[in-house]
Amino acid sequence: MCSQIQLLSIDFDGTLVSRGSETIFDPNCMELIRELQHAGAIWAINTGRSVDLLETGLAEFALPIRPDFILTTERDVFRPGRNGEKWEPFGDWNQRCARDHADLFLSARSVLAEFVDFVTNQTKARLIYNSEGLEGLVAESEKEVDRITDFIRQARAGHPKLDYQRNGIYLRFCHADYHKGAALAELARLLDVARENIFAAGDHHNDVSMLDGRFAAMPSCPANAIPEVQHAVRNAGGYVAQKGHGAGVHEALLHFVKR
Ligand SMILES: [Mg+2]
Repeated sequence: MCSQIQLLSIDFDGTLVSRGSETIFDPNCMELIRELQHAGAIWAINTGRSVDLLETGLAEFALPIRPDFILTTERDVFRPGRNGEKWEPFGDWNQRCARDHADLFLSARSVLAEFVDFVTNQTKARLIYNSEGLEGLVAESEKEVDRITDFIRQARAGHPKLDYQRNGIYLRFCHADYHKGAALAELARLLDVARENIFAAGDHHNDVSMLDGRFAAMPSCPANAIPEVQHAVRNAGGYVAQKGHGAGVHEALLHFVKR
């Protein structure tokens, strides 16, 4: 197969796989990715899931092929492990990323305390903590996330690097310099792949950073993508598929492979 696609960055939930309908992944999409892999292209899953939750997902959906790299929690970069581990950090990006987040959350702790107060007293959302402290939350509805992000945007004045990733009813705090687009750019740098040869696909707020044309010249989304994502993809000269989920990714890949 001859294609200008050298690197694929594909979101997992809602893009590659779907829940609720009887088809959970698209066999044609998997087959085409397999062919592209055989032709030398590199396939990365770029997800909000952690490494463990992504492995759980890969097993649950029983995908017939394995990704070559994984970009997790909207910021970290992993390659296949060499010492028994399934995955290991690729380069020193994850370390720098963790340090920048620790510094940021320390300097913004008063804002985060206000945030915890607001969420606890004025919403029904559930706060999520990890070993480093507050990670984010899961809300009751997307409307509630709207209200919470309005609060954050006001409260964070003076902390321009305090940002968040939004995916359905989930919200995760992050450093403004780290997102799916930045993680993809780091992987592309490590692999020496140019922006012109990168395909990306996603469906939600947290995917916009890899679909706005800055890091991937071939951005796309399935038909189920939220309007903000479709807008970003169109604006970047990308491809908005007619079909949903994996069938839409397949459609977008065919579009760029044939071009
Ligand atoms: Mg998604």
